[in-house]
Amino acid sequence: MKNKTILIQGAMDIEVEYFISQLEKKEKHIIAEYEFYTGYIHAQKIIISKTLVGVINATTATTIGIIAFHPDIVINQGIAGAHRSSIHIGDIIIGEKCCNINAYSMPTKQEGHSSNPFEWEPNKRAKNIQLGDKALINTFKDFFESNYDKTIYVGTLGSGDVFNREFDRISWLQNQFNHLCEDMESIGTYSVCNRFQVPCIGIRIISNNELTNEQLDKEQAIVLQKFLIDFLQSKAF
Ligand code: SAH
Repeated sequence: MKNKTILIQGAMDIEVEYFISQLEKKEKHIIAEYEFYTGYIHAQKIIISKTLVGVINATTATTIGIIAFHPDIVINQGIAGAHRSSIHIGDIIIGEKCCNINAYSMPTKQEGHSSNPFEWEPNKRAKNIQLGDKALINTFKDFFESNYDKTIYVGTLGSGDVFNREFDRISWLQNQFNHLCEDMESIGTYSVCNRFQVPCIGIRIISNNELTNEQLDKEQAIVLQKFLIDFLQSKAF
């Protein structure tokens, strides 16, 4: 029985277009300029939400999506940058946890005393770690591990309105948060879903790694959508 409604989010066109092309009985809804597409994929009731890029957009789109469509499950998916040199383009990260890697307090410095981001400390919002749904984590982990040829990681998604490109900064962040990758939306989704008590999971495919000089490959977004559609074909919610 496929009786649950799944809200699947992606920030950019390339992260949702393949899903939208696969929807049967498709209907488009626009609320406060956010696009939602309802329909079915492999007999599962699906809502595709284009959240747009960034934490504010993801937070707003998740709130609207939950209130307007009452999903049973929310999946935030898309591309992310690896924050470890052992993780490569095409690897997949399942977000057991999610944290805001862009929330800091800092010591006072007077005029002319420069700025040193390495002295900043994660504030209480950065430390407010959000959890993904345990059952969803296990379901996706089992399916991915037996059906995907690249590496699957289960761990922490780092999220914030920033695309870090400095090696030393990324190493510093990694020390603070022990996260696996960086995106700009998942913390919004996790925070809203946890407040509404809607089970959620973030799934990210690596599109770049600044530590190993692997340049942004947005096409990975399509690989992940195809794979999630295979998942919907073989599993029932
Ligand atoms: N200015 C570009 C940004 C694309 S990359 C554009 O709008 O086309 C940013 C998007 O990809 C965000 O949605 C984010 O979630 C994801 N992303 C991929 N790699 C990232 C990284 N290294 N850091 C932060 N976000 C990343």
